[in-house]
Amino acid sequence: MQKHPDLTRERIAHCIPRIFRLVYTQLTPLQAECAVTPEPVPWPQMRRLSFRPIRPGRAWGKNFDCAWFRFRGVVPAAMRGAEVVALINVGGEACVFDAAGNPVQGLTEKTDTGVNLEMPKRQVKLFKAARGGERVRLTVEAGANQLWGAKPRAVFAQADLAVFNRDAWDLLFDFTFLFDLLQVLPENSRRRHLLLRALNEAANALGDGSRPELRRSRACLRPELERPASASALEVSAIGHAHIDTAWLWPLRETVRKCGRTFATALRLMQEYPEYRFGASQPQLYQMVKDHYPGLYRRIRQAVRQGRWELQGAMWVEADCNIPSGESLVRQLLHGKRFYRREFGVDVANLWLPDVFGYCAQLPQLLRRSGVDFFMTQKLSWNEFNKLPHNAMIWRGLDGSSVFTHFLPNDNYNCNAMPRDLIKFETHNRDNDRLDYALCLYGIGDGGGGPGRGHIERLRRARNLEGLPRFIMEPASAFAAKAQRNARDLLTWSGELYFENHRGTYTTQARMKQRNRRLEFALREAECLWALAGLDRYPSETLDGLWKTLLLNQFHDIIPGSSIARVYREAHEQYDRLELSLSQLLTDGERWYAAAVNTRGVEGPLVVRNSLSWEREDTVLVPGAAAGFARIEACDVFARFLLKLEFRRAVVPEGDFLCKPVLDGRACFVYPGHAARLHFTHVSGNNIGNGMDLRFLFEIACDPRAFLTGEKFFDPRLVVFEWPVIKVWRVMQVPRVAQRVKFDIKQPF
Ligand SMILES: [Zn+2]
Repeated sequence: MQKHPDLTRERIAHCIPRIFRLVYTQLTPLQAECAVTPEPVPWPQMRRLSFRPIRPGRAWGKNFDCAWFRFRGVVPAAMRGAEVVALINVGGEACVFDAAGNPVQGLTEKTDTGVNLEMPKRQVKLFKAARGGERVRLTVEAGANQLWGAKPRAVFAQADLAVFNRDAWDLLFDFTFLFDLLQVLPENSRRRHLLLRALNEAANALGDGSRPELRRSRACLRPELERPASASALEVSAIGHAHIDTAWLWPLRETVRKCGRTFATALRLMQEYPEYRFGASQPQLYQMVKDHYPGLYRRIRQAVRQGRWELQGAMWVEADCNIPSGESLVRQLLHGKRFYRREFGVDVANLWLPDVFGYCAQLPQLLRRSGVDFFMTQKLSWNEFNKLPHNAMIWRGLDGSSVFTHFLPNDNYNCNAMPRDLIKFETHNRDNDRLDYALCLYGIGDGGGGPGRGHIERLRRARNLEGLPRFIMEPASAFAAKAQRNARDLLTWSGELYFENHRGTYTTQARMKQRNRRLEFALREAECLWALAGLDRYPSETLDGLWKTLLLNQFHDIIPGSSIARVYREAHEQYDRLELSLSQLLTDGERWYAAAVNTRGVEGPLVVRNSLSWEREDTVLVPGAAAGFARIEACDVFARFLLKLEFRRAVVPEGDFLCKPVLDGRACFVYPGHAARLHFTHVSGNNIGNGMDLRFLFEIACDPRAFLTGEKFFDPRLVVFEWPVIKVWRVMQVPRVAQRVKFDIKQPF
């Protein structure tokens, strides 16, 4: 090696594609056929589709089209003794299914390093040592979509059998990993020079790529892979992850399949790599898998029991934290935690929002009250102007509650596990002196299918390596426990964590936001009403489903307004159904409630209900006013009369005012005892007096304590508003207030 480091680096770089080409050899095409449909066809119906042959290079679909592919072939005799794999690339996202219709492995075109060194997820392992002559049949479900949404033209690219060269594979990762480490180390570091020398020797040993040459080449690198990390190296807990947006640049139905692909891949990789740990957030996604892929779901449960799969994020979805109400945020936590407990027996104590557009100041309080003591994100690293000065801190909410908070130091929830990213855990870490630990989420989300084999191979090499932090494959909960024990002198951030980006989303899709709020109110009303009916009548299952629909649409790309149009079309359809169900529930509830109130002896009673937890002054619009009712009686829920108002003459003409006439003269208002005030407003029509509208407002004030004691509780006053002049009258002193109307307020009790 001459002293020309730039030339040597170039030479080393040229070796990488050479090694890469040695990994898969003896490519033998499989026969392929496919059946294309606009929407997914479940496994049981797949057999009824008509399949047509397809050759590599042919387009089969566009923009979210779906397809089933079938591949057939025979392992050639020449492959005897070799490790044989299939290489499948349908030109979109895909998933291999087993003979029972369960997803077993996702396939994507997306390379997972960002530096284009590794194969896409296209390798399907078949035989460790083939005999030759084995029949191969593969069934693959595909989507004309990619990591970021629709694919305008999906072209079938490859379906081959191949011999897998493990020596070349191992060398590929040793070589590329150390080469990337070399490039991120300081120019003048001794480690960098040693790496350059070792890589150059490995390149020299490569020769024609025969098995002994590959092993010799690898041996040149071993000493450099065995140099341990420094004594002060940060310890990073690394967990495989796939950020799956519940809907975004694709509709919900595609999310179901993204989960199938990603989760099946995670389980497949656990079989190949015993130390591998994977985690996924959002109970909503688990629910989708349970509904659509029960076999896969059973295997996830098993992996959770074995401690190899981590359940993450206490919220039902990774929800927006600016638009949903406080109650909705509580429900996100309630339904999230409840699902994990019921389905898996696990109490999830972290808030997992790596991609949410800002975090309101109420959250620490809600989290502490929900048994959540760890909050994780990285989103604020995308801030436009003000970068947060912490990676580990205490976040304090409005009421003083605080929660341990970690911002991923590499500013990324899709870590590619290349040294250039891994080194950031130390170089970008703003709390190196306060915490000896950090959390790493590696893998590629959405259409990337989570971690690939490459991620795990690289992290194996980063366990204890000079120049990098130490990486341990373990769940985020292990990090949270260590970090909270070990952290020294963490600083506190009080109040909102404002996100300086994506702000435009909050002024788009206004109707979504409006309907969300109205549904939040309606759900509250329904719950208040049915809570009075007692537990045996309470429609908990119905309400559970309604809430979950609302919570789903509070996902951080749905309600803020960042999804594609189809997502909103479908969200509004869900809202329509939600509204319909809620109005039915409210009608039934009100009917039940009214029937439960004792109105015996009252003709045509009308029930007024105050669901707020405080006294309420508001207008009650009286149906039947137009019919000219003669008397208003008010009583509490125990049918104790509060007030009786009588009109000497019914003077109100039929008119175009407040409500349709329903009653014919008598009305009884009944309201719960804690509501201490009633206002009755009656618009009397537009043909009285001088032609102006005349409005009367009756206000009854009473002492709420009296409802409890049954003692004298009524200190009635009558306020008569005579438009436009306001006059106030006391009870028993009510004179004629308009020429044609006379009030006689009887002392009712
Ligand atoms: Zn997201």
